[in-house]
Amino acid sequence: MNNVMERRGPAVEPREIMQDGDAGLRITWADGRECHFKAPVLRRSCPCAQCVNEWTGQRVLQPEAISDELSISDISIVGRYALSFRWSDNHETGIYSFRYLRELCEGDNGQ
Ligand SMILES: [Zn+2]
Repeated sequence: MNNVMERRGPAVEPREIMQDGDAGLRITWADGRECHFKAPVLRRSCPCAQCVNEWTGQRVLQPEAISDELSISDISIVGRYALSFRWSDNHETGIYSFRYLRELCEGDNGQ
């Protein structure tokens, strides 16, 4: 396994991070790829210890527990490697590394 924190390169370097309305996020990466995220989808992918069992990696959070109306209350940058969100349900413990965001963008299209 690669160490996420040490992973560098244009595919995991955001060039621009833009909030897109109340419930959208757009990231343009240094390699030119543009990714659009929707708040409920990101929230359901929250990687924090309340949403994913730290030891088994199994997702504890039930997708249906998250409203499709969920919006983003606040976004902050964590160090140089991640974003953290405060959602309209007041959850704010998830740290989304740029690598993880890029994986979500590449992997779960249309979810
Ligand atoms: Zn969480």
